[in-house]
This record gives sequence, C-alpha cells and structure tokens, in this order.
Amino acid sequence: MGSASLTISRRLFVSGGIAAVATAFLPSIVAKLSAQEASLTGAQFRASGKTAKIQIRSLRGDLRFLMGSGGNVIVLPGADGLVAVDSGLATSEPQVKAALNAISPGPVRHLLNTHWHFDHTDGNQWMHRDGAVIIAHENTRKRMTQRQSIPAFSIDFEPSPVAALPTVLFSQSHELRLNEQRIVMRRYTPAHTDSDVSVFFENANVLHAGDAWFNGYYPFIDYDSGGSIDGMIAASSENLARTDAETLVLPGHGDVGRRIQLVSFYNMLVDVRGRVSELKKRGLPLPAAIAAKPTASYDRALSGGFVSPELFTSLVYRGV
Ligand SMILES: [Zn+2]
Ligand SMILES: [Zn+2]
Repeated sequence: MGSASLTISRRLFVSGGIAAVATAFLPSIVAKLSAQEASLTGAQFRASGKTAKIQIRSLRGDLRFLMGSGGNVIVLPGADGLVAVDSGLATSEPQVKAALNAISPGPVRHLLNTHWHFDHTDGNQWMHRDGAVIIAHENTRKRMTQRQSIPAFSIDFEPSPVAALPTVLFSQSHELRLNEQRIVMRRYTPAHTDSDVSVFFENANVLHAGDAWFNGYYPFIDYDSGGSIDGMIAASSENLARTDAETLVLPGHGDVGRRIQLVSFYNMLVDVRGRVSELKKRGLPLPAAIAAKPTASYDRALSGGFVSPELFTSLVYRGV
C-alpha cells in the first residue's frame, strides 16, 4: 500500500496534476511525498494551509461555503451567530477569518464536524477559542483524542489539543434550530471513516455530505478509521434517501452538486466493487488487479484528485 501510493504520488507530481490537486485538496501532501518519500507529519500538512486561497461561494438563501483550505466549509450567518460545518486547516486561520468576516462579522458560535479527519477539524481549536461550541459524532472525539495514522498517505496525527475536541456528542442524530434553519446531523453507516455524519439544512434543502461524497473524484476510503467500500456504498444509498431533486449537495471535496450526481457516484462504486471483487475471486493479487484496470471507464472523469485509479482500486480490493 505504502509504495503503491508513493508511485502514484510521483506520477501526479511529474504529470503536473499537482496544480489541480492543490486547489481542491491537500495542497502539499502529494508533493511532499514525492519529494521526500518519507512519512508526513501533521505539522507538515498543517503548513500547507498558510498560503491557501479561500473562495466564498453561494449555496441557497444565506448559506455560503468556503473552498480552498482542507474540506469544504459551510457557513450560515444569522441572529444566533455564525454556524460553520468543518473548520479547514488551522494555518488558514487569517484567510478563513477574513472570509467569515466578509459574510458576517462576529465569531463562529456553533461548529459542526462531518468527521475527524485533519482537513476538516484542524481549525477547531481557534474557532473554539473564539467562542464556538463544537458538535460531532462521538467517534470524531474518540479518534481526535488518540494518535491516528493514514498509511495510504503515510501520515501520522498526534492527539488533538483539548480545545479542538467536540464537546457536544451524539451516536445517531442531533438536531439544532439556529438562524431560522432546522439543522439535522445524522450518522452514516461507517463509510469513509466510522465518524462520518451528514449535516442537513432542512429549510434551505442543503446537505453537507462530508467525505461520504467526493464530487468529480475517486473517494478516499480510510479503512484504518473504520471505513470500507461496502460502507461507502451504504452511505451513498443513505445520501439518495436524504435528498431530492432540488437538494444542493456539498461534498467534502469538489464543487456543490445535485442528487443526480450522487446517483452516478453510487453506480460507479457498485460497478467498480463488482469488477474488483470478480478479479479477486479469480485469484488475482493486487498488482494484477490494478493492471486489469477495473476503473478504466471512469478514469477520465474521476482521476484528477489525490486518489488515483490505482489507489482507488487498491482501496476497493482491500474490502472485497
Ligand atoms: Zn477530506
Ligand atoms: Zn476525510
């Protein structure tokens, strides 16, 4: 797994794919792996947020999202103070603060985390320091209090500081009424991790799917955090049940989309799972399964992110 991901990283690096990766994802992760072929610490990853450029984009009504530092961040302004979903990289604090201020003055009062991953929770500490109560699935707190590793990217994370930890926790669902929105957080079947939740802004009909959906890219599946391909398929099915044709759906990575794209994503997952499972049943070891190119018909559309066809195939292979 480790050497496969490094090979993939190098390919992205030399092909110039890094520029596309930088805008949507983990700005320097792939470059660092390529340059050093060494494990990346949280500190190195964090440093990549310093130069991130933040875009503010509209969703519906007063809802906005910030794109550019870690995962997509939803912002809802109003009389109850700012509500944010995910917090980006800590080193982007000045840019994120400026973007929040451009939407509405005043600190974030409620911060909702979609899952524990660093690119979604690293800004938790400063947002909490400025007054935010942090709400998440109980496994988000559990994982943030322990040392975590993502071997596929050779990244290790130290336990998060206490101020970064969510303090309002739930296991199934949690409801808030803020800024004239009913906001429902609901856990997914463990999919990308075992801490994934969706955040639904009911009155606006806007859903943040976290990393249970990558729009326009192969998804990462973090088996070491309780994720699996079957869980991703289950969560994708849950997304179809949680949306209608009018719902605006924000992925953890990529642009806002609609239910019809969730259908394509679901179909892709089921199709690739079937193909890879067939190859594994025939006894093909992982390198041979990768060489058989089970994702070929999707590569043109989905291979522009940090999960290459080869890595995605290996992630599916692991779970079938
Ligand atoms: Zn992410
Ligand atoms: Zn994630």
